[in-house]
Amino acid sequence: MDKIDAVIVGGGLSGLSCAYKLAEKDMQVIVVERGDFPGSKNVTGGRLYLEPIKSIVGDMLDGAPFERKVVRERWSLLGDDNSISIDFTGEKFKQTNHSYTILRAYFDRWLSEKLIEKGVYVIPKYRVDDLLWEGDTIVGVRAGEEEIYANVVIASDGVLSFMAEKAGLKQKMKPKNYAVGIKEVIELSEEKINDRFNVDVNEGCAHLFIGDVTKGMFGGGFLYTNKETVSLGIVVGIKALTEKTPTIETHALMDDFKDRYEIGRLIDGGSLVEYSAHIIPEAGYNGISKLYGNGIIVTGDAAGFALNMGVTVRGMEFAIASGIIAAESVIKAKEAEDYSEKTLACYESKLRETFVLKDLYTCKDISAFLDNDSFFSFYPNSFPDLVEKIMWFGEEPKGRIGKYLWNEMKASGLLSFKRLKELYTFKNV
Ligand SMILES: Cc1cc2nc3c(=O)[nH]c(=O)nc-3n(C[C@H](O)[C@H](O)[C@H](O)COP(=O)(O)OP(=O)(O)OC[C@H]3O[C@@H](n4cnc5c(N)ncnc54)[C@H](O)[C@@H]3O)c2cc1C
Repeated sequence: MDKIDAVIVGGGLSGLSCAYKLAEKDMQVIVVERGDFPGSKNVTGGRLYLEPIKSIVGDMLDGAPFERKVVRERWSLLGDDNSISIDFTGEKFKQTNHSYTILRAYFDRWLSEKLIEKGVYVIPKYRVDDLLWEGDTIVGVRAGEEEIYANVVIASDGVLSFMAEKAGLKQKMKPKNYAVGIKEVIELSEEKINDRFNVDVNEGCAHLFIGDVTKGMFGGGFLYTNKETVSLGIVVGIKALTEKTPTIETHALMDDFKDRYEIGRLIDGGSLVEYSAHIIPEAGYNGISKLYGNGIIVTGDAAGFALNMGVTVRGMEFAIASGIIAAESVIKAKEAEDYSEKTLACYESKLRETFVLKDLYTCKDISAFLDNDSFFSFYPNSFPDLVEKIMWFGEEPKGRIGKYLWNEMKASGLLSFKRLKELYTFKNV
């Protein structure tokens, strides 16, 4: 039985990043991807934060097909028939490579081609069905009739990770801990995008929405500008969606979202070029699986490394960083000639020193905090309503603005004890 150094299940960003770093050390690596090509089954909203990973990626992303540098941030609260938005831009975002929009079908494929040039076997259209065991140690994978033996299996198989589950490292899915995302890529000319989003060539905008976009359910909407397309989508908590009465389909939410005045004008004249749907881990730190076992390491979404911070979703830089740190751990294990749990524990120790587990830990209470319908219905309705009342000038005399505002806030419940308590708990997030 010939063993290679590592077999990686899943050719997403975490699996490919792991393979890249192993290939740099001339390790024998095989990546098995069930999609037609890496990127074909991968979905993101699409913004990749580069700052957190800049010190560890080396030359891996040199020449990467980034779409636009995000220099404009917009957040919108969507009421039933009105909205309020914050529009932010800053020189710091223009002068650094803070974050870029990407399209995974191009990005992951590009990275896999770079890997193939480095001698890595990337095998598409193959689904790994099972793990191979020798006693209590994982020694490879089975894909159809094929068996691949390796010193370490890297489970980079995404959010539902059957590999981590089969290895006994991950609990079965609970609807509360997951959301479903659907996304459309809509083609628009570069000039239209620049004009409509008020950005220069190669500059982009990230726009997030909460409120009516999910009809008050946990979740939100997103719009990212690419070079000649925009990525428009919604994310909804699976528990909230299944409990909603009367029931509502996600595609109906998407249609309503696109019909809104705020969105319709931005995508007017565009044509749909891609449609996708995917699950997102939402449990944050509390949903992380056991990260390693004898002969196995779990990375990226498979491990639960995704963070919904309310104002942004982060998962891709966690996937890349965990893939790279997994590779470093395999390299150490090879030096020690020991692939047991004891040696592979260095993976978790290293993750704890980096933003991956630090940020996830810091934000460990966010998912509990966001498990509150007020953020998706009460506030997104109340603030636009308040602005509407302030800005409406009718036949009635207006009165003093301060007193008016105070009375309206009291009447809407914004100054109630319940709301102040919510504000107070925000400090723990
Ligand atoms: C709608 C949406 C919006 C998002 N927005 C953002 C965002 O703006 N910014 C951000 O940073 N993150 C975002 N995320 C999260 C981010 O996309 C993920 O965290 C990231 O893709 C995880 O990468 P990964 O490599 O771990 O997993 P994936 O990219 O899911 O890769 C897993 C791979 O494993 C393959 N696979 C699975 N099972 C098998 C098997 N048995 N055999 C072989 N291959 C297998 C799959 O085909 C897939 O290619 C978003 C996610 C969604 C769904």
